[in-house]
Amino acid sequence: MTQTGRAALFFGPGAKLELAELPVPEPEPGALVMRVTRANICGSDVHIWRGDGALADRGRREDGRVIGHEMTGVVHSLGPGVDRDWSGAPLRPGDRIVCQYFAPCGRCRLCLRGRAEACLRQHRAFVGKPSEFPHFRGAFADYFYVRPTMAVFKVPDEVGDVLAAGVNCALAQMVMAFDRAQVSMGDRVVVQGAGGLGLYGAALARECGAGQVVVIDGVDERLALARQMGADETVDFREFGSPEDRAARVRELTDGGGDVVFELAGHPSAIPEGIRMTARGGKYLELGTFYEGTPVEVDPGYLVMNNITLQAVSFYDARSLAGALAFLARRAGDLPLARAAADYPLEAINEALADQAAGKAARASLVMS
Ligand SMILES: [Zn+2]
Ligand SMILES: [Zn+2]
Repeated sequence: MTQTGRAALFFGPGAKLELAELPVPEPEPGALVMRVTRANICGSDVHIWRGDGALADRGRREDGRVIGHEMTGVVHSLGPGVDRDWSGAPLRPGDRIVCQYFAPCGRCRLCLRGRAEACLRQHRAFVGKPSEFPHFRGAFADYFYVRPTMAVFKVPDEVGDVLAAGVNCALAQMVMAFDRAQVSMGDRVVVQGAGGLGLYGAALARECGAGQVVVIDGVDERLALARQMGADETVDFREFGSPEDRAARVRELTDGGGDVVFELAGHPSAIPEGIRMTARGGKYLELGTFYEGTPVEVDPGYLVMNNITLQAVSFYDARSLAGALAFLARRAGDLPLARAAADYPLEAINEALADQAAGKAARASLVMS
């Protein structure tokens, strides 16, 4: 009899996710099947679930799709030819792993230029019917199919599941962004939003030798975590209620703005004020708003006259995932995020999404059993 596993199917914004039993696939050569142990509700999942911007028209498929992408798990089965992870470490069933949730092709024009994150033929998670092989295309399920071109690494023992679950999205994404932004010693770094991305942004800024780290958010728990993760100063959204007030406060704290400012709030409205938080000659990195359809107004003269560089980053390369794990292996013991998850069983996925969307949980996380 074919073994099956549960998957939460998404039928479109506004519809409740429903659990279904899907067959566990036999991995092809080069692939493997992961048994998911923990999957976080990422800000991106909330955007998809709510149907923000152009996402409103997505996912309305009769057969649903398996969403979710921020996860960790153990090797369930290895396809022919797979006996090592991408760093050469031996891989066996039961080993704890993290993997990319998308698959750069490795041979298109952009992959060949070292821009795997912008791959022209990237295979994305979620795409395809759950009824068709390999069925398990997203993290909100008991299993995840790891394609041959998805980077996979063993998780060091010192990194627990709560931290490991955030590696393949939030942390690896930030490692990539820091690489692109070339944050250097003494930089004043400003982070808009203290979700998963923002908290790691604060920690990585410290790691890179930032002279000052300022984080903006409006939730007490997240502001406290931001300080523990490395922020020197926090700006409370509730205290500085207007975009002008917030930008002025950041410029005051940083003596003229951040040399590097990251938009990690996931609200397009954060962009105009974030640009005003950027110092002359600084860089503004856009990561938080990944969906189209919500344009904002930007004053080009302000950018030009202040020599501000705008840059946007999505996805990451295999090296960023390896770098993220190396960072965690060293810092796992002193990162408060190791204790910050609010756990839900897979059956409670609708509640977990609602709580994350309402800001009731700093990080809602599904624990599979
Ligand atoms: Zn490619
Ligand atoms: Zn994510």
